[in-house]
Amino acid sequence: MFELVKLPFEYDALEPVISSETMHEHHDKHHQTYVNNLNNLLEGTELESLDCPKKVLESLDKLPEDKKQAVINNAGGVYNHNLLWEFFTPGGAKEPVGEVAEKINEKWGSFDEFKKEFVAAEKGRFGSGWAWLVVDNGELKITTTKNQDSPVLEGQTPIYGNDLWEHAFYIDYKSDKGSYYEKVWDVLNWDKIEEKYQESK
Ligand code: MN
Repeated sequence: MFELVKLPFEYDALEPVISSETMHEHHDKHHQTYVNNLNNLLEGTELESLDCPKKVLESLDKLPEDKKQAVINNAGGVYNHNLLWEFFTPGGAKEPVGEVAEKINEKWGSFDEFKKEFVAAEKGRFGSGWAWLVVDNGELKITTTKNQDSPVLEGQTPIYGNDLWEHAFYIDYKSDKGSYYEKVWDVLNWDKIEEKYQESK
């Protein structure tokens, strides 16, 4: 059985970048729905005792064929959002720290160049999905996925990701998603991203 994770900060902690209203909708409604759907889908299957969404995504071959896509959508929805809340923090480091900072500079030349490429990837994803910074065979890469697909389905380890679904920004930014992609850098938890990078090794 899966349960909705608690936010690691108050609902209004990320204002004005992300409003309390958005956080309530996003966490209490959207994220909760993925949790409920996943519990319903796994009931009576071999995976029903699991409580780690990543394990579910790594065990899709144990599921009946007609459930696989719905489980990809909903286990992905649970896992991606569990990660998303960890990537945010009020008053975090404003730029990368530690070894991930070195690797970003090595690969993209500077944090500014990295941000430009990341935002271009966010804008380039048509429809709903996610933009990611992943570790792929030891190397940092920017990638995007559609819907709730997780990079773990491609054998990659996500160390940062941003939700590109309209529900992530529409209350606060309406159709101006470009502004959301620029402002979200202000609430990133680079200590956590560095921790995820170290864990990926
Ligand atoms: Mn979302």
